[in-house]
Amino acid sequence: EIKDQKFVYDFTEGNKDLKDLLGGKGANLAEMTNLGLPVPPGFTITTEACKVYLDSGEEPPALRDEVSAHLAGLEQTMGKKLGQADNPLLVSVRSGAKFSMPGMMDTVLNIGLSDDSVAGLAKQSGDERFAWDSYRRLIQMFGKTVMGVDGELFEEALDEAKEAKKVTVDTDLDAGDLQKLVKRFKKIVKSEAGREFPQDPREQMDLAIRSVFDSWNTERAKLYRRQERIPGDLGTAVNVCSMVFGNLGPDSGTGVAFTRDPASGHQGVYGDYLQNAQGEDVVAGIRNTVALAELENIDKKSYDQLMQIMETLETHYKDLCDIEFTIERGQLWMLQTRVGKRTAGAAFRIATQLVDQGLIDEAEALQRVNGAQLAQLMFPRFDDGAKAELLGRGIAASPGAAVGKAVFDSYTAVKWSRSGEKVILIRRETNPDDLDGMIAAEGILTSRGGKTSHAAVVARGMGKTCVCGAEELQVDTKRRRMTAGDRVIEEGDVVSIDGSSGKVYLGEVPVVPSPVVEYFEGRMHAGADDADELVGAVHRIMAYADRVRRLRVRANADNAEDALRARRFGAQGIGLCRTEHMFLGERREMVEKLILADHDDERQEALEALLPLQKQDFIELFEAMDGLPVTVRLLDPPLHEFLPDITDLSVRVALAEARHEPHENELRLLQAVHRLHEQNPMLGLRGVRLGLVIPGLFTMQVRAIAEAAAERKNAKGDPRAEIMIPLVGTVQELEIVREEAEAVIAEVEAASGVELKLALGTMIELPRAALTADQIAEAAEFFSFGTNDLTQTVWGFSRDDVEASFFTAYLEKGIFGVSPFETIDKDGVGKLVRDAVAAGRATRPDLKLGVCGEHGGDPESVHFFHEAGLDYVSCSPFRIPVARLEAGRAAA
Ligand code: PEP
Ligand code: MG
Repeated sequence: EIKDQKFVYDFTEGNKDLKDLLGGKGANLAEMTNLGLPVPPGFTITTEACKVYLDSGEEPPALRDEVSAHLAGLEQTMGKKLGQADNPLLVSVRSGAKFSMPGMMDTVLNIGLSDDSVAGLAKQSGDERFAWDSYRRLIQMFGKTVMGVDGELFEEALDEAKEAKKVTVDTDLDAGDLQKLVKRFKKIVKSEAGREFPQDPREQMDLAIRSVFDSWNTERAKLYRRQERIPGDLGTAVNVCSMVFGNLGPDSGTGVAFTRDPASGHQGVYGDYLQNAQGEDVVAGIRNTVALAELENIDKKSYDQLMQIMETLETHYKDLCDIEFTIERGQLWMLQTRVGKRTAGAAFRIATQLVDQGLIDEAEALQRVNGAQLAQLMFPRFDDGAKAELLGRGIAASPGAAVGKAVFDSYTAVKWSRSGEKVILIRRETNPDDLDGMIAAEGILTSRGGKTSHAAVVARGMGKTCVCGAEELQVDTKRRRMTAGDRVIEEGDVVSIDGSSGKVYLGEVPVVPSPVVEYFEGRMHAGADDADELVGAVHRIMAYADRVRRLRVRANADNAEDALRARRFGAQGIGLCRTEHMFLGERREMVEKLILADHDDERQEALEALLPLQKQDFIELFEAMDGLPVTVRLLDPPLHEFLPDITDLSVRVALAEARHEPHENELRLLQAVHRLHEQNPMLGLRGVRLGLVIPGLFTMQVRAIAEAAAERKNAKGDPRAEIMIPLVGTVQELEIVREEAEAVIAEVEAASGVELKLALGTMIELPRAALTADQIAEAAEFFSFGTNDLTQTVWGFSRDDVEASFFTAYLEKGIFGVSPFETIDKDGVGKLVRDAVAAGRATRPDLKLGVCGEHGGDPESVHFFHEAGLDYVSCSPFRIPVARLEAGRAAA
């Protein structure tokens, strides 16, 4: 089979769609060649050849002859032979994988120079210095990358040559100096590599090709691939290209250009040019480049040709392209092109501009942007130009830029913010008690916890800036201060936190608001100026996405304010109302009473006190989401979250005892806290277990929902409540709760005289629930995948701890490229989701299916949920536009 395989493609044979085979660079060089653009002739050795080499340790046997044939063709085209003494053909040997891996793999220039042909090059170019400099560069590059010589040795020799001549730049060395340097370099090669620098040009070429193959597996290339999630078995192509020189005098040069501005998307002349230089010099920043527009004055003919080529490329690729070019004595050559990187804002603008130009359609425009870019555009940013002192760095938990006075407890946060101060709430970690403070604060900073810690999840839900797990910072809550190295930040000192980078600064860093959020909030409309233009592009792209998407998008929201914002952002309902968030603050004491009750009367009393409050919450929520579904989840978290801290309480009791003060209540509380304390509360008494153990708790909540819905109906509203049971593992649990709930609903319907049609369903967040989804669907009208807990239980990862403890090591080792709490683990957790979808629908074909874990707002996960056939995703209000966009992209 291998025998028939073609391993070498001339540039005239390939095209841009052959990136798998020819790599990105090779495919695009071929495409430009076939467009009739001036590309120096050459050929590409395929990634298949590389794979054979990497697998077997040897080049495919047919490769040598194929290379010979293509080299002969190239020599004929160029009218000179590789390394020919009097008129040498020189080539570059460059790596080029399917996905760009900038600077990760090898490249060797000037192949074909030798002791003989250096004279030929001098004659050909009429420039002896240039010839010796080219030879010097070859030995240096070849010695280092192909022969494994320490590059420092060449650098040192070069420095010594300059010192000896008392000059500082390479260009002050003349032909004679460079000739001596070549001798010195050859000696270095001989002594370090144990053999002479090869004089045979074909041997140079073959060794260079092999070294490019080898460079696929260097440590840094492997690391880069793991980070960028590029598969390790693709291999690289090798491009052999005739050399052109930008360093042959003032009528030569090299440059980079964009077909439009990668920052704004505007059409125009963007790029840099460096006269009398090679590409490597631009990268090394040896001399200052000039703006590309200057080229018009330097070389009008090449400039005009370049402009025309850029237009050809843009029309052909139907996208922004970036290019590298060289001018050799007035002749323009294209060395590379590819679809260019751009800023988030430019991506949106360019996509709509190209639609307007008729180059792409709306479906294609959706593929030109993504949710991560939209998310980036939605957060306020620190002014790039500002200077600030960095205090430390934590996990970028919830993006944005927040500035405020440091406060170290929730009470102070609320008090100060009421008096008009902006504050940053700084805690070691947060718990539900900090909620008031978190709401009051501009941003939240913790020194412990990962991306799914309480602080992170709640902050993202509120769209509030949060940096968590900033371990260099010592937070001393008692003394109301924080230390960073030897800096002490007292309560009231101003700090700035960047939730997009995780950086924490001392003092006030200036902030600019997001025009895109202003637009979603209805405070800004598309118009003429720069920000308006961006908003106009976002508006159009969102409209395309909404038109094509199949997934509906709901919000995770627990109060009317969040619900209203979610609606403005395009939410089509609430997919998760976490009722535990309604039991905090002043109501906590009532919950405490409920938990401590040891006879029915006491418990009943506590429940009756809570009922009207819950009911009022739901009335507000149903009103805000009138006409749209609202999934209310019954109480979930472990009970101890509602009780005082065990250590604090023990201290209080001990103190009271020592002082002989009365402390019966505290003692009773402490006993209860001890009784309810769990080693692993995330796997303890929570969710449906709580509902089954505390009589009347779930029925009180169901009654509150039912009565609120009845009241809304009587007020001519259109409430669409759905009741959701958390942490179900078996259908029996669900059946018991369902029976009780149905009785209560029937009672409320009878009393109010309205039909409520309340749907009852469950979360799927335990492996057992997913595995028995067929049975569970018998008792559930809908499933909502709780992928936070499902990830935790499938992997056996504690969601509150692991990201701060060993995830960094896991990411570094490439075990995963991104936390499974952030992007759904398709093979494991995702498999359970897919199987449960199939099993659930087999039982109940009209089963409604959604997801409400954090993954519901993650771009890659949204695509997965689309493919898995869910009906909706639910995410925090701020992620809704992102989910809408990605759902559209998945469907387009
Ligand atoms: C989940 O587990 O995915 C979920 C949405 O519930 P919570 O995060 O409240 O546990
Ligand atoms: Mg959960």
